[in-house]
Amino acid sequence: MVRGKGSRIWDLDGNRYIDYKLALGPLILGHCPPKVVEAVSKQLKQGSMFGTLTEGEINAAEKIHRTVPSAEMVKFATTGTEATQLAIRLARAFTGRNKILKFEGHYHGSHDYVLTNTASTPVAALGSRTRPYVIPGSWGIPDETLRTVVSIPWNDSAILEKTIREHANELAAVITEPIMMNVGTVLPQEGYLQRIRELTEQNQIVMILDEIISGFRLAPGGAQEYFGLKPDLATYGKALAAGYPISAVAGSREIMELALPGRVSFSGTYHANPLCIAAADATLSELLANEAAAYKHLRKIGGLLQNGIEELIRETHSHAIIQGVGPGGFQIYFTALSQIRDYREFVSCDFVKYRRFHKEILKRGIYTHPGQNEHWFVSTAHGEEDVESTLSAVRESLKAVQ
Ligand code: PMP
Repeated sequence: MVRGKGSRIWDLDGNRYIDYKLALGPLILGHCPPKVVEAVSKQLKQGSMFGTLTEGEINAAEKIHRTVPSAEMVKFATTGTEATQLAIRLARAFTGRNKILKFEGHYHGSHDYVLTNTASTPVAALGSRTRPYVIPGSWGIPDETLRTVVSIPWNDSAILEKTIREHANELAAVITEPIMMNVGTVLPQEGYLQRIRELTEQNQIVMILDEIISGFRLAPGGAQEYFGLKPDLATYGKALAAGYPISAVAGSREIMELALPGRVSFSGTYHANPLCIAAADATLSELLANEAAAYKHLRKIGGLLQNGIEELIRETHSHAIIQGVGPGGFQIYFTALSQIRDYREFVSCDFVKYRRFHKEILKRGIYTHPGQNEHWFVSTAHGEEDVESTLSAVRESLKAVQ
């Protein structure tokens, strides 16, 4: 791809597409949002790095503090990977325990502690549902690190309770995505996230809500606002700065205050650099303006598209379902199941059919990720005319796949 503007992107041969991949989520304001481009350009002329605190950093942190229920304190990093790594380090320092509980199919970045039992793990290798093996998602991860991870399927309260009871004294943190977004879009079962909150609270385990995708996308206060949750720590990235590399950890003062020199190391040359801070501050201003009107638009466009595709699945008698939340992302699964609830159900989907569907829509000018494990996102730059032409391409593509 060589150029993007609003909801569209252009490839090297000059073909134009409506973009629903949106760089895997960050582009919540579409490509080249004028206010963000203006803020970054202005900062670029004033200096890109000072290696010290800036007023912009305080402004952006205050916006997060005002918007996210649990964000008593905020610290910025650069990538989502760093944010989850630092949140886990804080949890270990706070509890004095070493292990973490992570769920099958969840993705929290590419550092060694969380790159286990991800969406590329063969189910046969995982073993039983109640006591799965911990399988590295990459070569080069030490056995010692794997032994710090406990992993179970998501969305199963009975297994969760049993596992937390068994490991209560050694778990520093439970880390979870609020919506399982790295195997398409799997919603939490009623009360499941609240159960994680109760059990972690009862056992003095830190709950880390990984909002790298859902943060500032699902609602102004992210999944915490959407599901009415208050985790101890939460991680942000992607939509936070509409396409610029910056992430954040936010949470309770008691834990965040440990991030001081000589205690919990939380440092990086590019952390809170003025260019990305300018992007984050401008993005948050855009998203929160006029009583967060942007989210009404995202809900409307996302809803029209998701409901429209659902209707087309029925109309074309496709063996498929659609899951998600309009503004937060959704995915089409080619499956005979009526619902996908965890990673093991996800792998039973028809991946070949999804590939064929992807090729058909691409031919018709619709750009999405080729993997059924990713999702469709909308931005504030998408309009009803985009939805209309997309639905017509989806209708033809579903028929072609049939
Ligand atoms: N957490 C979640 C939920 C993610 O989806 C991702 C990236 N897709 C990350 C963490 C890691 O973020 P990054 O790629 O910026 O390191």
